[in-house]
Amino acid sequence: MGIFSGKRFFVYGNGLSGKAAKRAIKKRGGAVSVYSDKGGEFTKPPERDYYAAIISPGIKKTHPVYRYCAARNIDAMGEAEFGFTLTDKPIVGVTGTNGKTTVTRLVSRMLNCTPCGNIGYPLCLAIDGKDKALCCELSSFQLEGATRIIPHVAVITNVAPDHIDYHGSFEAYCRAKTNVAAGMSENDYLVIGDDVTVGALSSLNTKAKLIRCSADKVVDGSYVYRDNFWFMGERICSLDYLRLTGKHNVKNALCAIAAAKLMNADNRDIALALSGVNAEPHRIEFVGTACGKRWIDDSKSTNIGSTVAAVECMSGPICLIVGGRNKGLDFDELFSALAKGRLREKIECVISMGESAGELKASGKKFGMDVVAVGKLSDAVDVAALSRADTVLLSPACASFDEFNGYEKRGEAFRADVEAKNEKARG
Ligand code: ADP
Repeated sequence: MGIFSGKRFFVYGNGLSGKAAKRAIKKRGGAVSVYSDKGGEFTKPPERDYYAAIISPGIKKTHPVYRYCAARNIDAMGEAEFGFTLTDKPIVGVTGTNGKTTVTRLVSRMLNCTPCGNIGYPLCLAIDGKDKALCCELSSFQLEGATRIIPHVAVITNVAPDHIDYHGSFEAYCRAKTNVAAGMSENDYLVIGDDVTVGALSSLNTKAKLIRCSADKVVDGSYVYRDNFWFMGERICSLDYLRLTGKHNVKNALCAIAAAKLMNADNRDIALALSGVNAEPHRIEFVGTACGKRWIDDSKSTNIGSTVAAVECMSGPICLIVGGRNKGLDFDELFSALAKGRLREKIECVISMGESAGELKASGKKFGMDVVAVGKLSDAVDVAALSRADTVLLSPACASFDEFNGYEKRGEAFRADVEAKNEKARG
C-alpha cells in the first residue's frame, strides 16, 4: 500500500534519474514500466490508463514522448519536478548559468546533507534518504515549463546567455531560470546572486521574499564588508575561510551563505563548509607546468560568463584557448569583454579551436584581437606551447561535443597533452 497504490506510471529514460523515479513510485505502491529510445527512435508505451509519466532530464521537450502524453492527457513531468511533489522536506533549489554545482556543494556542506539534483544524485533518491533538508541543483532544462518545483529557498546565482540553441532565445532561457520561484509563497525566499541583472529578472513573478548578495556593497542579504562575510547585519566569518579562489567564488559563497542562513544553519557550520569545499576538477584547475608555462584546465567553462570569470581571476600574460561547439551564443559578447582594460592587458594571445574556430576568429577581429584558429585541441596545445604567455588557460566558452564526449573528456585530453609535452622534453 502507499499513496500510489492502484496507480500506473511510465518512466521514460533508463538512466540514473529514470531508475530513481521508478524506485520512488514502487516504494509508494505504484505500478511502473520504464521505456527509453531504441536506436535513436521513440519507443511508444502501450496504450494504458497512466496516472502520470516521469521523463528523465536528458530528454528534450521536443521529444515525441511529450507529444504522446499531451495527446492522451497524461500528466508528464520531469524527474526533479516529480521529486518535489513527493516530499515535505524543505528544499534549497539552486539554479543559474554558472556556479550551480559549487553553490549546491557549499550549501549541502553547510546544512550537512547530500547534494542532489542535476549534480548527479537524483532528487527522487534524496527525498527518501536520511537528510531532513535538501539542496538540489536545478538546470534550465529541469525548470522549463515545470509548475511543481517549489523550493523553500531558491538561489539564482547569475544569468548570462547559455543553451540558446535549446531554449530558442535568451528570454526563454531567463524564463526557465526565473520559473524556479514561480510557485513560491510569502514564507519562501529567493536569493539573487551578485551578477543577476534586472533584465534577466524581467519574467520573474513570485511571492517569495527577495534576498540580495553583493561582494562590493552592503545589501539586504549577504555581503562582504571589511574582509568578512555578513548576512543581514550579522558577521558570519572572515573572508579567508573560503578555500575556493577567485571573485566569482566569493559571489558563489555569498549565495550559499544566504541560503544556509535562511535554512537556520549555524555560523560555525557555514565557516567550516567554506573551508572544507575545494574546487572540483576542470574548474580553473592547475594541471601542471610544461614548456615554461603553467597550464590551467577550465574545461567546465562552456559559456561566455564562465570564460570571462576565469580570465578575471588569473594574472597574465595569458594564452587563452577557446572554441568547440557553439550553444547559440554571440561571441561578440566574449570579445567585447576581453578587449577592454585590465582583461585586454592580461591576454597575450587567443587560440580558437574546433567547430567554432572561424566564428571566434571573426568576432575577435571586430574587437581588434588577433585570434589563431586551429583544428583540434591538441593543435591548440601545440600553438600555445610556442606562445610568449606564462599561463595557458583552456576556458572554451563552448560545449565539447564537436570533438569530445563531454567536458571531462576534453579536460582529460588537455592534461594528457600537457603531460606529453613534458615527456617529450625529458627525452
Ligand atoms: P555549473 O554547475 O553552473 O556549471 P560550476 O560550479 O560547475 O557551475 O562551474 C562551471 C564553470 O563556471 C567553471 O568554469 C567555473 O569556474 C565557472 N563559474 C563558477 N561560478 C561562477 C560564477 N559565479 N560566475 C562566473 N563563472 C563561474
